[in-house]
Amino acid sequence: MASTKGKLIHEMVPSKERDPPHSKVTIVGVGQVGMAAAISVLLRDLADELALVDVVEDRLKGEMMDLLHGSLFLKTAKIVADKDYSVTAGSRLVVVTAGARQQEGESRLNLVQRNVNIFKFIIPNIVKYSPNCILLVVSNPVDILTYVAWKLSGLPKHRVIGSGCNLDSARFRYLMSERLGVNSASCHGWIIGEHGDSSVPVWSGVNVAGVGLQSLNPDIGTPKDGEDWKSVHKQVVDSAYEVIKLKGYTSWAIGLSVADLAESILKNLRRVHPVSTHCKGQHGVHDDVFLSLPCVLGSEGITDIINQTLKKEEEAQVQKSAETLWNVQKELTF
Ligand code: NAD
Repeated sequence: MASTKGKLIHEMVPSKERDPPHSKVTIVGVGQVGMAAAISVLLRDLADELALVDVVEDRLKGEMMDLLHGSLFLKTAKIVADKDYSVTAGSRLVVVTAGARQQEGESRLNLVQRNVNIFKFIIPNIVKYSPNCILLVVSNPVDILTYVAWKLSGLPKHRVIGSGCNLDSARFRYLMSERLGVNSASCHGWIIGEHGDSSVPVWSGVNVAGVGLQSLNPDIGTPKDGEDWKSVHKQVVDSAYEVIKLKGYTSWAIGLSVADLAESILKNLRRVHPVSTHCKGQHGVHDDVFLSLPCVLGSEGITDIINQTLKKEEEAQVQKSAETLWNVQKELTF
């Protein structure tokens, strides 16, 4: 006796023979950042399959069920979750948000060894099931953990990316837009270097419609500037600490920014983003460190780095960021 399904449906292609996913995205870590990234990726229709992984099984299952109950309103047909990495097989993009997060007042660099230990388990498992994936690291301290992920994965450097200063630059452009009354998308400014405390604002390139603000205000970004634009960068640096103090964590902006990077990768858009990349040899950096520079992102990951014309003091700041990171990295055991 045929089932209701059997009576309703005549199968033309057996399910085992159907196409594998083309734009599968995995998110490792279903905490505040992972779920904000998940919902942002889903709402932008970027993936044909979404896989979630975490070590806390109840939370993982709960998040998956909650998203699946919204299937009617989404265009990602398959959402799966498991603590076993086989669920991630065949991913094009794997976003790592797992790990301990900053406590109130804790610096990102303090988190490092705790998260390195977590990565020792996560990264080999990702590569085992998705050897051709692009790895996008979000966990903090993101630049160091991107280096750690690169080392542990054995993937070529163009396929290991840190979300880096993508968020810092978005915050900068938002604050600039507040000052100027112009939409963030039309306020151009790049924060490069370390995501966080030693990040570098490239004042020489800040512009609206190609009009460099430095040409209008030669003191911009310096202590001599009567309008104190320098405080805009300070606000960027302080942003995470402030939001964490107020709501306990940051999530929405980083989630949205991850989806923006995912879009460039999955749609091979070749847009330029300030993301963390292996930058030995750039701007006088001699160490094996990952720092944010403007990078062209497409389906292969980072295909190119844009050579920004930096001022001497901006280059010196990038080199200082590199030195700060290297001093932490060289002590790591993994
Ligand atoms: P959270 O504590 O809410 O979530 C972390 C999740 O990781 C938890 O669900 C936890 O169970 C999971 N996890 C821990 N060990 C794991 C393992 N071995 N395998 C799989 N999952 C594991 O933290 P959060 O607020 O979501 O932050 C996550 C990370 O993102 C932190 O490191 C935070 O500092 C970082 N972050 C980065 C940026 C950025 O711009 N790069 C911005 C915000 C937060």
